[in-house]
Amino acid sequence: LVVLKNVNKHFGALHVLQDIDLTIRRGEVVVVIGPSGSGKSTLCRAINRLEAIDSGEIAIDGRPLPAEGRELAALRADVGMVFQSFNLFAHKTVLQNVTLGQIKVRKKDKKEAEDRARALLERVGVTTQADKYPAQLSGGQQRVAIARALAMEPKVMLFDEPTSALDPEMINEVLEVMQQLARDGMTMVVVTHEMGFARSAANRVVFMSDGRIVEETTPDEFFTNPRSDRAKDFLSKIL
Ligand code: ATP
Ligand code: MG
Repeated sequence: LVVLKNVNKHFGALHVLQDIDLTIRRGEVVVVIGPSGSGKSTLCRAINRLEAIDSGEIAIDGRPLPAEGRELAALRADVGMVFQSFNLFAHKTVLQNVTLGQIKVRKKDKKEAEDRARALLERVGVTTQADKYPAQLSGGQQRVAIARALAMEPKVMLFDEPTSALDPEMINEVLEVMQQLARDGMTMVVVTHEMGFARSAANRVVFMSDGRIVEETTPDEFFTNPRSDRAKDFLSKIL
């Protein structure tokens, strides 16, 4: 569903993505882990073209990433993204956050968009807060961000450390929503340091270091028998 071939990206002298080859099949959950600065966020941002790449190819569902315009907007709708920081529209209610893209990009009428939004809010467990503004939510902003991304009916969801800015008691709630999404068959790329999630939800673990994919294997294999010294070193620090 998502294919990266020989992808390279520099920030000035920094070679942040180096010869990245990665294929994500439909329904697969791929967890990306690695030390800070290894290029995980840049990889996610390249997949929905928040960052342009210098060379190589990225295709979603057989179509190369468009550079701009209407096609790019359509691509973004197909690739849902949830970031570390909450990026809900602060001046819109929860319900409006989840209907806006459906109406503007997916051209749904208001009623249809609201029905779908309420169903999704129920799915992520924040039904009772639909008319509040994001700042008034007692936690749960990240779950609304997930609902908003799902409202676009994405083919793949990218998560970039979705729980790392959350209070501890909120982390499991978000991870549970993600687990359920994985069980429902959503194709997901998840950058996370939540090793419990990686073990239980991932089909594959991709370990990055210095802009390269150093290991790509099953979670079992990765956690019990990492091959590279870099992965061993990384795991010894976080486990
Ligand atoms: P973290 O775990 O800290 O989130 P990461 O693996 O997500 O790290 P990236 O955010 O992809 O790493 O960054 C990779 C490298 O590229 C880092 O050295 C970072 O400083 C650099 N970098 C990221 N974005 C930019 C930018 N817009 N301009 C210049 N350098 C950047
Ligand atoms: Mg990052």
